[in-house]
Amino acid sequence: MVRRETALTFYGGVNEIGGNKILLRDGDTKVFFDFGMSFGMKKQFYSPPFLSPKSEKSLQELGILPRFEGIYKFDDRPPEIDAVFVSHGHLDHSAYLSFINREIQVYCGETTKTILHALGEMRRADLEFNVEGIAFKSFRTGEKLRIGSLEIQPVHVDHSVPGAYGFIIYTSSGAVVYTGDFRVHGAKPQMTRDFVKKAKEADPVAIVTEATNMTGASISSEAEVENKLNQIVSQADGIVLAEFAYADVDRLNSFFRVAKKTGRCLAVPLKQAYLLNALRADKGLSVPDLDDDFVLIFQKEKGTTYRWEKQILEQYRGKVVKASDVSKRQCNVVLALSFYDLEELVEIQPKAGSCYVLSASEPFNEEMEIDYEKLVNWLGHYGLPQYHVHVSGHIMPLQLKTMLKEIDAARIFPVHTENAGLFTMFMRDLKSKVTLTEKGREYKI
Ligand SMILES: [Zn+2]
Ligand SMILES: [Zn+2]
Repeated sequence: MVRRETALTFYGGVNEIGGNKILLRDGDTKVFFDFGMSFGMKKQFYSPPFLSPKSEKSLQELGILPRFEGIYKFDDRPPEIDAVFVSHGHLDHSAYLSFINREIQVYCGETTKTILHALGEMRRADLEFNVEGIAFKSFRTGEKLRIGSLEIQPVHVDHSVPGAYGFIIYTSSGAVVYTGDFRVHGAKPQMTRDFVKKAKEADPVAIVTEATNMTGASISSEAEVENKLNQIVSQADGIVLAEFAYADVDRLNSFFRVAKKTGRCLAVPLKQAYLLNALRADKGLSVPDLDDDFVLIFQKEKGTTYRWEKQILEQYRGKVVKASDVSKRQCNVVLALSFYDLEELVEIQPKAGSCYVLSASEPFNEEMEIDYEKLVNWLGHYGLPQYHVHVSGHIMPLQLKTMLKEIDAARIFPVHTENAGLFTMFMRDLKSKVTLTEKGREYKI
């Protein structure tokens, strides 16, 4: 047998949280794992909506989108990449599929496909998020897919968005494992354990692991979050405002159960309703039914109504409420409200005894950015105390170390972290050799 050369190149996720774009080359076979947007790099140059990238040219000029031939739809060359595998639907792993040549096959889980289609519909005409024309191929956990000389096995993991996967990639040089984003303290930790077990069995030569939480780690769980939310909501006299990532179905379920238990309705924004409606068909997921008596759909006061909004407004006509309605029934509503909806408070006029729950990482997470100072000013203006109740989507350091020890790969490549140096020191007594990555450099394995 001809021994093919296997190598990894990291085009994103290096010294930053997210933006993962990892190329695995095995002889002539080339597959990208994730093709996400780099929030950190974008923030260095842009301040949306008035200073936003105009074209892919700007993004390449500034190094936000890697210069790479034979992968983009704006490049005339035939595709040189065999496939792109997407671990999950967060934008820092998937958004730059926008630029991928439509002839290249994109593989992801069924739930991720639904999420990306829904996001695509909601973000029409967005340069940096457009999945139109992508013929997604979906996979299931445990399945083995052959791409050129590679065999790729997706295995489900627990993360703060449903439908997240890690991969075990059988190459000519042995197995390479990619964790994607994962944790063991969410609603379905068993999925991550399944992944770790399979990864270990593959006796990998290398593992590419996320290492997000090297500082500010905490011990908690989704169950604990629900318990805390219950305490807050049951004590509140007025409206409970809640900010959380709308694709975080576990958090949504926690809020929903708490609202129901305390005799309140959970009012979700149109965006979240649209996503929930799309995810309804997903048999493997349990999501609140939009027809449930304890669910309302919150519509902002604004001029234009988009096509996708019309669809939800028509389908769930009797469930739609506006700020003026919510204002009249504050004691029986938990309102999911994003930073960009704070203007609605003017109409709601939260009464005394109302409160605000930030249930996302502070002050920044992968999907949204909160201008913390402005938030504090709004809450101060209406006399709303702020609670922070959250659990990270990412694994904690000691658990990660235990897992890496168990998987026992010959080499470890940390990604999706601002603390790769600290990670290396922390892992220095493992048998596995940790390699700090440099962007764009090829690492033979
Ligand atoms: Zn991520
Ligand atoms: Zn993620």
